[in-house]
Amino acid sequence: MLALEFTLEQPDTLENPFVDAYMLEQLFAQTRDEQTHALTRKLGTLRCAQHGSAPRVRVVMRWDDALGQLDLDYSVDACCQAFLLQIVSRLHRVG
Ligand SMILES: [Zn+2]
Repeated sequence: MLALEFTLEQPDTLENPFVDAYMLEQLFAQTRDEQTHALTRKLGTLRCAQHGSAPRVRVVMRWDDALGQLDLDYSVDACCQAFLLQIVSRLHRVG
């Protein structure tokens, strides 16, 4: 089973006049839902052909307060190099 882990990173103090903590919370929740959906669609059925294990993906959602945008960082764990490459290429596939 695909393992997903989400982490939020935001500054202690928000300087951006267009957002507040509540909006950020909504944005994080929405992004997490979207990412869960997209990643499950892309990776949900993927198993290592050799070891039978499923992918682990960590998503860091980082709020860039100065730019007013949310940056996403993915890091992938897999049982072996071959499977890691397969996961990454699937991740980067559009759609
Ligand atoms: Zn493997």
